[in-house]
Amino acid sequence: MDTAVSSTENTSDTESENVRCLIIGSGPAGCTAAIYASRANLAPVLYEGLQPGGQLTTTSEVENFPGYPDGATGPEIMEQFKKQAGRFGAEFRWGEATDVDLSVRPFKVTIDSTKVILAETLIISTGASAKYLGLEDEKKYAGGGVSACATCDGFFFRGRDVAVVGGGDTAAEEALYLGNFCNKVYLIVRRNELRASKVMRDRVMKSQKIEVLWEHQTKGLLGNKVVEGAVLWYKKGTPEEKEVTIKIDGFFLAIGHRPNSSVFKKYIETDEVGYIKTIPGTPKTNIPGVFACGDVQDKVYRQAVTAAGSGCMAAIEAERFLAEQE
Ligand code: NAP
Repeated sequence: MDTAVSSTENTSDTESENVRCLIIGSGPAGCTAAIYASRANLAPVLYEGLQPGGQLTTTSEVENFPGYPDGATGPEIMEQFKKQAGRFGAEFRWGEATDVDLSVRPFKVTIDSTKVILAETLIISTGASAKYLGLEDEKKYAGGGVSACATCDGFFFRGRDVAVVGGGDTAAEEALYLGNFCNKVYLIVRRNELRASKVMRDRVMKSQKIEVLWEHQTKGLLGNKVVEGAVLWYKKGTPEEKEVTIKIDGFFLAIGHRPNSSVFKKYIETDEVGYIKTIPGTPKTNIPGVFACGDVQDKVYRQAVTAAGSGCMAAIEAERFLAEQE
């Protein structure tokens, strides 16, 4: 078989296609896997998923990705990744994995509930998505002032009052970013301390624009069509509990992320949160021939550069796996 060729055939009701290396997800991990797999002549096919380019595309300035001494925006960096993978023949396609059957090889991956890919090896690089509080109002005001990405949507709230929920590094970073151009930023923190690193805590506390609302939780949002305010609980569940209303135009969630592993869970082992378990120090999952890289399997580092490194490892392992089979 020609190693660089994939084949397409029509079964009775769905179109299916054979590929040697299928990559699901297009962040730094998936794109790096595509660079390595294409240079290894595996003719990788990569499906971009719901957020092409992954989480980095929601970041404005990236200052810590090696090779960019002057910094660059997330979308700029991801465009370079894609261009580099394309140079060696990796094929990028729109689509999302909606179902899988990993019980036998080739692995069967259904894209957008219509197309079936039969993959000799599978690299999962589906990343993680922002968490929401689970309030009905978050859905009600979606696109009307509720956002999980200050760097994407913050600019619309120039000169306005906004709130950020969370006490970690993301919340601190987003509050500081919004403070650059918003009138006022409330940071809604459920405990009486920030989880964020010391440097970020210090910056938050020094900011003239940020008011930290310690021990507050969100009860709901107010507004006619768009967010105009939020109702919070202060010290919920204690004798001092009381309701507080703040006037805001934007409500930003920064309470962490959830790994995008649900479609694979029937076959692939995950931890209790959903992070794919890999054999330590490798991208190998519990199924030989299926590899995981990037944030879907990393709850510790979660950096673009570590994701890229693990994508490289996944492609190398896919190549080795195929060589052993042949
Ligand atoms: P995180 O560290 O898990 O923090 C989540 C924050 O949201 C916590 O303060 C948590 O409160 C709060 N939270 C969670 N569920 C909540 C709820 N239902 N209601 C109210 N608050 C809730 O997540 P992250 O900030 O996204 O950071 C993830 C990782 O990326 C961390 O390792 C972080 O250091 C790293 N990171 C680094 C940078 C950087 O270096 N520049 C930037 C961003 C992120 P509790 O504290 O009470 O649990």
